[in-house]
Amino acid sequence: MSYTLEGKTGTWEIVVGLEVHAQVISHSKLFSGASASYGGEPNTHVSLVDAGFPGMLPVLNHECVAQAIRTGLGLRARINLESRFDRKNYFYADLPTGYQISQFTHPIVGEGTVEIELGDGTVRHIGITRLHMEQDAGKSMHDQDPTRSFIDLNRAGVALMEIVSEPDIRSPEEAGAYLRKLRQILRYLGTCDGNMEEGSMRADVNVSVRKAGEPFRTRCEIKNVNSIRYVMHAIEVEATRQIEVWEDGGEVDQETRLFDPSRNETRSLRSKEDAHDYRYFPDPDLLPLVVEQAWVDELERGLPELPDDKRDRFIKQYGIPRYDASVLVAEQAIADYYEEVAKGRDARLAANWVTGDLFGALNRTGRGIQDSPISAQALGGMLDLMADKTINGKIAKEVFEDMLETGDSAADIVERKGLKQVTDTGAIDAAVADVLARNADKVEEYRGGKDRLFGFFVGQVMKAMAGKANPAIVNEALKKVL
Ligand code: ADP
Ligand code: MG
Repeated sequence: MSYTLEGKTGTWEIVVGLEVHAQVISHSKLFSGASASYGGEPNTHVSLVDAGFPGMLPVLNHECVAQAIRTGLGLRARINLESRFDRKNYFYADLPTGYQISQFTHPIVGEGTVEIELGDGTVRHIGITRLHMEQDAGKSMHDQDPTRSFIDLNRAGVALMEIVSEPDIRSPEEAGAYLRKLRQILRYLGTCDGNMEEGSMRADVNVSVRKAGEPFRTRCEIKNVNSIRYVMHAIEVEATRQIEVWEDGGEVDQETRLFDPSRNETRSLRSKEDAHDYRYFPDPDLLPLVVEQAWVDELERGLPELPDDKRDRFIKQYGIPRYDASVLVAEQAIADYYEEVAKGRDARLAANWVTGDLFGALNRTGRGIQDSPISAQALGGMLDLMADKTINGKIAKEVFEDMLETGDSAADIVERKGLKQVTDTGAIDAAVADVLARNADKVEEYRGGKDRLFGFFVGQVMKAMAGKANPAIVNEALKKVL
């Protein structure tokens, strides 16, 4: 089912394209040796290049280029062996040079594609138009003093990757899925930490609406949205606004807008500037960037297994459902944890315990897999006790809760609490005889054809043995007598 909005004049479709700014993980900035790390006292990570001193020359950071290429490869995109840096000229207090170095006509990465999966299982492919490298600006601080603003240049010159999508996104849900997938890929690659709260990933959201089958209409660009939830909200309120404008006989103007989450509305910021307003021109301080295919190949060989590939491998290798596999590859650390538990064990059972009981416990306590109170080895140890029939599935739940609380190993808990499964047929036979003697009426009914009562007898015997009886042996014993 495709997502649509109803207006007075009929059904509208949403068209969205996203421009994502992703801060590159690197020690130093794109064109200077100053630290690129987040935070720090204001203006302590600033070189003369970043501060725009006269006579300073930019020197391209090799590692930032490698990161951009890795990202391009992870997005299954074309790597452009020749790209260029341009100056994008504008004045802003936190931009001391008066221009931002960016890639305009010749980006380092061309067309690619990102696969997304929606809640109902639909798979869609969102086109990537390009990825280019550019510098971040500094930060103006207006909340430090009642009458003055301050400038912090720590961020000035830090490398960004701008990842531009095709206008292929058709709903808030797709936008959310696209951003989550993009962030997952960047994190797997180690090229951006994807931390939207710290601003290391932020999105400009281009939205337009149209009636089905129409060509695209004018879009508005909502700047700098810094959470996935806000992106989804912004799309919905902006689309609703545009539909009203069109239906009231007006025209949507191409403009830059701002999303205000507290009022759940978008507001006009400025009418859209055009590329020529920035007077882009090739930066005369920087030669065209030429990379060799051999280096690209080397970077490709060094890439980790990407989330989609890992998911497909999990489905095949471990025989688990696609949904479980998707959940397990959400983070590299989760995938690693799962594989350690599954190795040499019942992989489906392992998936059930990790995605069910373990995730439930982590969610309850607000922890990530890195802080799991139960290590992969410890959970594996518990599965081993199930496999060798020391404990059954019911007792395992109790052992698991105890492991969460105490951090003890499953074996220690079984020992301490005396939970070892009873496989002694003598004891089980005695319990069976006792239960049948106490329920003579039900035995008669069962023999008269009421098969459903078998489960009742199993339950009673298990209860009599405090849950510790081996269920298979109980079944056997009951069948024999009945
Ligand atoms: P500009 O260079 O002016 O920002 P682009 O053509 O590069 O314009 O597009 C920027 C973003 O806007 C891209 O992500 C693209 O997918 C998106 N976009 C383009 N046209 C539309 C449209 N009609 N509706 C929604 N998004 C659009
Ligand atoms: Mg743009």
